[in-house]
Amino acid sequence: MKILVSACLMGTNCKYDGKNNFRQHIADFVKGHNVIQVCPEVMGGRSIPRLAIEIKNGRFVDINGQDVDDEVRTGVQMALEIAKKERIDLAILKSRSPTCGVHQIYDGSFSGKLIDGQGALAQALAENGFRVLDAEDIPENQNDALKNEASREKK
Ligand code: SF4
Repeated sequence: MKILVSACLMGTNCKYDGKNNFRQHIADFVKGHNVIQVCPEVMGGRSIPRLAIEIKNGRFVDINGQDVDDEVRTGVQMALEIAKKERIDLAILKSRSPTCGVHQIYDGSFSGKLIDGQGALAQALAENGFRVLDAEDIPENQNDALKNEASREKK
């Protein structure tokens, strides 16, 4: 299976603070599959480290209020093109990120308040028919999840 994964989940230090969001159970889940790591924010030209961003009135802004929408959306488009070119079977994305989050994102006030919504990459992938999972959709006890994915692949 070809699986697109938020690079920070795999231990790449591409997070805004220069750290990562490594999750052992995600690494275990994708082990043996063809893993394609992407970090749309960095691909679009954002630096490491960088200021945190959220979506406000439909545009990406940093915590100082600077509009960084073009950069982030450029990176999202690049990641989407990779997904299409590679014909990925599944994407697993970092929870709550304005770029990668699948179920929830922060509300744009930089106050830590979450709202229902998708990050730009999760939205773009879903709109293009790709299966997208939030990292927190993968159970810590993943034997069952692995079996489910394998059986879906065979269908
Ligand atoms: S843009 Fe996505 S891959 Fe990059 S650091 Fe943020 S959550 Fe991780």
